[in-house]
Amino acid sequence: MKHVIWVLLAILSSVPASAQGKLNVVTTTEDLASITREVGGDRITVEAIAKGYQDPHFVEAKPSFILKLQKADILIVVGRELEIGWLPPLIQQSRNAKVQPGGEGYLDASLHASILEIPAGQVTRAMGDVHPSGNPHYWLDPENGKKIAKDVADKFSERRPNDRMVFEKNLAAFTAKVDAGVKRWLADLAPYKDTKVVTYHRSFPNFAERFGLNIIGYVEPKPGIPPSPQHTLDLIAEMKRQNVKLILIEPYFDSKTPNAIARATGAEVIVMPPSVGGVKEATDYVALFDYDVRLLVDAIKRTGAK
Ligand SMILES: [Zn+2]
Repeated sequence: MKHVIWVLLAILSSVPASAQGKLNVVTTTEDLASITREVGGDRITVEAIAKGYQDPHFVEAKPSFILKLQKADILIVVGRELEIGWLPPLIQQSRNAKVQPGGEGYLDASLHASILEIPAGQVTRAMGDVHPSGNPHYWLDPENGKKIAKDVADKFSERRPNDRMVFEKNLAAFTAKVDAGVKRWLADLAPYKDTKVVTYHRSFPNFAERFGLNIIGYVEPKPGIPPSPQHTLDLIAEMKRQNVKLILIEPYFDSKTPNAIARATGAEVIVMPPSVGGVKEATDYVALFDYDVRLLVDAIKRTGAK
């Protein structure tokens, strides 16, 4: 009899965990989905809204996104107003209390990340700036990737306390993988420290700071503002003056202006994905850095950029 009671107790105590099922997670980007997958393992399902080859500032809102948000236990956003142009109405229309800002299932991944380019003065939309709360492309520093993963693990543990050990273990494994990657990427780029580049959008300041690139200008006059003739002429003059050989562009920008600048300066245009899924090789967070670092090293060697 005593034995039977113990067995019953054991079965009953295991019920809440299994009855809860997997956490249904939605992230705004594929970078966040990749980190989430590493931390959540088999205790979660995760789906990203924006694809890595899309400009995350400007995503076309589809009704299917609302359905995903309706069923989500947790929504993880990049924050810093990256998604402000398209996400708020989707969250509102989902009518899911859990994923509203401040809700139990809402996580802003920028909370503990190191954020660059935080404006000192007052910023208005009239300036056309899509970075009014600091640079939202902070996931391109792997040290920030580790901080995002920690926040994700804490959020999952809060929602599923029984699985805390699993999330902690997964977090440790991911952190170790990123640390090994950082050593590799720093070593690969060390011989080319302070190489001068131009980028299309301000997507790479965190990457440049971590890995020692010197970004001397942008194809866009301001983040989110298309190239203008005068700005392009100024940029060409500056690139000639500083002998800049590389123009890095994100996969979702028109290459017409970058190609014209390249012809005028003798520089080369390199399509460098800022996100997982931006090219087929960037299959996860670590693979994205492996790809971008290899791409850069090859381009620097080929062009003799300094
Ligand atoms: Zn941006």
